[in-house]
Amino acid sequence: MPLLDMGRRLLSRLGCDCPLCGARVAGARLCAGCQADILAGPAGASARCPRCALRLQGGGQHCAACLAQPQAFSRTIAAFDYAPPGDALVLMLKTQLRLSMAPVLARLMAQALREAAAQPGAHLPPDLLLVPIPASRASLRQRGMNPAAEIVRSLAAELALPAPRLLLARRRETPRQATLGRRARQRGAVGLFVCAGPIRGRHVAVVDDVMTTGSTVGAAATALIAAGAASVTVLVAARTP
Ligand SMILES: [Zn+2]
Ligand SMILES: [Zn+2]
Repeated sequence: MPLLDMGRRLLSRLGCDCPLCGARVAGARLCAGCQADILAGPAGASARCPRCALRLQGGGQHCAACLAQPQAFSRTIAAFDYAPPGDALVLMLKTQLRLSMAPVLARLMAQALREAAAQPGAHLPPDLLLVPIPASRASLRQRGMNPAAEIVRSLAAELALPAPRLLLARRRETPRQATLGRRARQRGAVGLFVCAGPIRGRHVAVVDDVMTTGSTVGAAATALIAAGAASVTVLVAARTP
């Protein structure tokens, strides 16, 4: 039996605590109640813009930003809002560096993708290539890992989808996005990435942990489409509401 499988079996026998409520569960995962709560979202939440997953205020099929300036990606699937309780899972991965949160987030994202694909008229390509947003050199140095790449590793296993390495590269380093306003983020993201592998005619899913303005995933999608990708879907764990 491969070592990884042995490790997983052992973990599932030992049991762990649900990272959100502390309930005893088999393996490093959320309990069924927390998983369902997170995926259901807040009570009374409005529908999401299908293109960028922003919660829609008022009527209309798309948000005002997507209507004003169409993005290079055609669809965004977010597992949950970047708000309690789900945001804690992202923080455990990104600030506490708990790598066991990557499969937890990937499972939520896989379920959100399955649910989206089951909707009538979803038109989600079944053969997506999973591509993580490359981390900046500064954040790689700080964390010693790229949270998006960790999520992709688990997501590829969960969904049995290919995740070729290093398809996307950063052309330059940028100031920390979190410190910038919306306009500065958008300006800073233009031409940020270059596609470094063969993707002509392929359907690509760009993967990130959190989507805030969409400028980073937008820049990645632009680079992938320019390199010949047939379509780009965005998969994120959390979307700022
Ligand atoms: Zn729980
Ligand atoms: Zn939108």
